Parts: sequence; C-alpha cells; structure tokens
Amino acid sequence: MSGYLAENLKRIRPYVPGEQPRDGGYIKLNTNENPYFPSRYAVSKITDRVLDETRLYSDPTSTELREAIAARYKIGRENVAVGNGSDEILAFAFRAFSEKGVCFPDITYGFYKVFAALFGAEAEEIPLNGDFTVDKKKYFGRGKLVVLANPNAQTGIYLPLPEVEEIVKNNRGNVVLIDEAYTDFGGESAAGLIGRYENLMVVQTFSKSRSLAGARIGFAMADPKLIADLELVKNSFNPYNVNRLSAILAKAAIEDESYFADSVEKIKRTRDESAAALKETGFEVLPSSANFLMIRHPDVGGRELYEKLKERGVLVRHFGDERIREYIRVSIGTPENMRIFTEKVKEIVDGKKG
Ligand code: PMP
Repeated sequence: MSGYLAENLKRIRPYVPGEQPRDGGYIKLNTNENPYFPSRYAVSKITDRVLDETRLYSDPTSTELREAIAARYKIGRENVAVGNGSDEILAFAFRAFSEKGVCFPDITYGFYKVFAALFGAEAEEIPLNGDFTVDKKKYFGRGKLVVLANPNAQTGIYLPLPEVEEIVKNNRGNVVLIDEAYTDFGGESAAGLIGRYENLMVVQTFSKSRSLAGARIGFAMADPKLIADLELVKNSFNPYNVNRLSAILAKAAIEDESYFADSVEKIKRTRDESAAALKETGFEVLPSSANFLMIRHPDVGGRELYEKLKERGVLVRHFGDERIREYIRVSIGTPENMRIFTEKVKEIVDGKKG
C-alpha cells in the first residue's frame, strides 16, 4: 500500500477470488465455472470480419445483446442493462441505490460487503436461520437496499418465488436486488415479476449456465427507470463496458436455447448423483439448487478437506466465515471430474478413520 492511497480505502479488504492456477493440472471445482464448452453456435460467430471490427469501439448501448436478452425473458430492451460480468452490474447498483445503506444475509456472496465498503455504504448483515434458510420477515420494510442471492451463494439454498415477491412488496420505498447468478440450475426467476414492481432488480450472468465466465457478461432486468439509473452510473464510469467479442458471443449463446437447456440438465443430474454419493460417504449436503454443493463431514474439518484435496490435484473452495468454516464448496464438474472428486474425498475420510 502506498502513502498516496485514499484514506478511506486503507481499511478495505478486497474480494479474494478463487484460485485460477495457470498450469491446468488441477480438477477445478472451486469457482462454479461450467465444465462444458460454450455454445458452438456462439463461438462460430467470431469470424474474421468480427475480429477486424475490434478496431472499432463497441456499441455503448449494447442494443443487439439487450434485445436478445429481452426476447428470452419476454420483456422490453428498456428493461435490460448489460455489464462486464454481473459483478460490474452489482457495483453499479450498489453505487446507485445504497445511499441509505444496504442489507444482505450474513452468509452470502462475499463481494456485497466489499462493494458496500468501496462505495461507503453502511452494510447490515442479517443472520440466516440455523438451517441456512432466509427468514423473509427480517427483510420487510428495511428502508435501504436489500440484496439477496437466490439461490444463495455458498449455500445453494433457494428461496421460493412467492417469498421473494413478499419481500419486494414489503420494500416499496427501496430497491430489492435479486442476484440470480445460479437460478438456471434450479430456481424460478423473479424476472416474471418485472412490470409489476418498480423497485425490483433481477441480476443474472452468462458465467455459469452459459459457460462464458471468461467473456464477462452479466445483466440486470428491471423497470426502465431503474435501468436508466444503472446507465447513468455506467456512462459516468465506462460507456464501452461490454467488448465487441463478448457481446457477440453472449447474444448467440442466449439464442442457442437447446444447447443451454442440455448443458444445464447435465449439470443438475451430475449434482444430484454427486450429492447422493457424498451422503453415502457420511457427508452432510446442503440442499442445492445451484451448480455447486456445500458439504461437511463429521470427521474432517473444512480447511483440512480443502488442503488434502489440493494435494490430490482437486481444487475446491473453503471459506473462513465462522458459520461455514467446517464446510467446503464443490462446483459441479463433468461426471468424470465428480467421480475423481468423490474417490479422493472417500480416500481422505477413510484415512481419517484408519
Ligand atoms: N453473484 C454471485 C452470487 C456469484 O457467485 C458470482 C460469481 N462469483 C457473481 C455474482 C459474479 O459473476 P460474474 O461477474 O462472473 O457474472
């Protein structure tokens, strides 16, 4: 840290992403990426002509991509904003709507706390129930930005849509942001409620269910006035936030519905099979509607599991937060990835017994 850094940034603890090893020698189950190739139809759109056009700035309105997203969700393009990953959309939303503070669960996506700190918003962490479910009543009438990941990050637990709607209804004076990074793997999107609630913002990403984490495309769906607020922040920061290649990939990927449906189905099936196998090995498995499993074993701690798996060439995620310290989070890979993972954890658990 230099002596030049702004005083109010000196105590920020930035988000720490999962490891991205360069050598490719690991089975990588740590950042909830999709194990399957992106849509071939989407990739085929990156032609020589498209590459030539990278000389030119991208479309600052991202109109074609927004239209494709709007068509998929049966809303208008004025209901859609796109960003450089949903992280950027979240950053814009925190900047725009957290003046009176922000609240979110104590166990959730770690970036919320960081955005609050970066933008000087007071953050309130609302404890999840003992079984890691959300108590909807704790979110009623907050008078500040409400942020809920649904399914929730780290736990994978889904809050049924009628309860999400009640939270939105009971917060008319502030924005309720539903982060649906994982919803395609099991939840019902709140996108269908747009048009009925002018305080609802739904955020999704191409990083998980559409295999495009490296292309960095996320989007918000909301009332046109909320979208205009996000645009105001974007145009005060980086008008060309979405690059040409990623916009083309994402537009074609969202049009390739059958490929998307097929890859999501495969991941859901593998998730359910892996959960069953892990339970047989004595693991407690939180009920997941996402592309990851949060698991805990009575005989081996979370940190130890993470380290021993890493020694055996499998990367998973371990979080230091007190309530989930004994768990590891495992992203769903291919059936072969998961077979190796299950074999390695069994070896670790059996070694502990012997
Ligand atoms: N929200 C949640 C809940 C996440 O887990 C992630 C991925 N780490 C993101 C948003 C950000 O995803 P991206 O920026 O790749 O769209």
